[in-house]
Amino acid sequence: MENRKELRTWLNKFGLDHPLVIAGPCSAETEDQVLKIAHQLKDSDATVLRAGIWKPRTRPGNFEGVGALGLKWLKRAKDETGMMTTTEVANANHVDLALENDIDILWIGARTTVNPFVVQDIADALKGTDKTVLIKNPVNPDLSLWLGAVERFYTADVKNLGVIHRGFSTYEKTRYRNNPEWQIAIELQNRFPDLPLILDPSHIAGRRDIIFDLCQTALDLNFDGLMVETHFDPDNAWSDAAQQITPTTLIQIMEDLRIRKVTDEAADYRNKINTCRTQIDVADHQLIEMLGKRMKISDEIGKLKKEHNVAVLQTKRWNEILGKMILQGEDKNLSEEFILKVFKAIHQESINHQKKIIN
Ligand code: PEP
Ligand code: MN
Repeated sequence: MENRKELRTWLNKFGLDHPLVIAGPCSAETEDQVLKIAHQLKDSDATVLRAGIWKPRTRPGNFEGVGALGLKWLKRAKDETGMMTTTEVANANHVDLALENDIDILWIGARTTVNPFVVQDIADALKGTDKTVLIKNPVNPDLSLWLGAVERFYTADVKNLGVIHRGFSTYEKTRYRNNPEWQIAIELQNRFPDLPLILDPSHIAGRRDIIFDLCQTALDLNFDGLMVETHFDPDNAWSDAAQQITPTTLIQIMEDLRIRKVTDEAADYRNKINTCRTQIDVADHQLIEMLGKRMKISDEIGKLKKEHNVAVLQTKRWNEILGKMILQGEDKNLSEEFILKVFKAIHQESINHQKKIIN
C-alpha cells in the first residue's frame, strides 16, 4: 500500500464541498419504491443512491432481497435522476451482475469482510477494475481483519477504495445496535490517512433518533462521507424499519450538521482541535463505561463476601493491585501520585458500594 495517495483520488473527482453522501433504502423492494426514493433524494446532498439487492439476514425467513431484478431498477433510477448507484456484493456472481448493470460503486458487507476466502474471491473478480469499492468493517471489532480486506483489494489492483464504519457486534446490549468503537476507525485513519472513511450511522444506531449525533461525531472526527438508510415510509420498510429516515429528514440533518471545511490555516487548526476534542469525548465515555463495569464486578464480590461472611476491606489484595497499577502507569507516562489518587478514589467507591450490599 505504498502509493496510498491514489486511494483518495476517486473521492476528489466528485469535487464536493461537503461530505460524500450515499442514501437510499436498506433494501430495494419494488421498482416504484426505488424510483420514488431516488427522486426524493435528487435535490439533496446525496450523490449516490444505495439499495441492497441481496440481503444478508442474521436469521433465515426474513426478506432476503429482490435479487438481480433490482439492479434494473437502480439503472433506471440512475438514468432518471443522474445519481450514481451502489449495492452490496457478497460473491463473484453478484459482482458480474452488478457490473453488467452499470452499478458505479460496490460495497462489501460486514458479514463478508469477516471471511478472507470470500473477500479474496470478490477481489479476484474485480481485478484491475476502475469501479469504486467500499469495504465495511467486519462485524467483530478486529482492525486487522478490516485492513486485511483493504489489502486484498489493493493487491488485486483495485485502486478506488474506501471504507465504511458501521459499528461492531457486542454480546452485551448497549444503546447501539452495533457499538461504534470509534477508536478502531480512528486507528485505521491514523494508519491510512488517504483511505476515504465513510460512516454508516444507520447500522450503528439501529434506531433513527441518534442518526444526527452519530453523523456529527463522524464529521468532527474528519470522516469523508455518510451512508444513510433512507425510505419514504421507514416504518413500513421491508428490512431495518426502525433505523431508516425519510429523505426530508436527511435533508434537514445535512442542513443542521456542522460541516467543517479545510480552507485556511485557522480552519486547519480548528479541524485538528475539534478532532482531538472528539477523541477526548470518546475516551471519557469509555472511561465511564469501564468504571461502571468495574463497579458491577465489585458489587458481585460484595455479594460473595456477604454470603461467606468475609470482611469488605482486604488490605493485602488492595496493595497488590496498587503496586501493579503504579508499574503499568509508569509505562504510560502517568505519575505514581496520579495513579494513587485515581485508584484510591475508585477503591473508596467500591468499598462504599460493598458496604451497602453487606449491611
Ligand atoms: C446494509 O448496508 O444494508 C447492510 C446489510 O449492512 P451491514 O453489512 O453493515 O450489516
Ligand atoms: Mn440495512
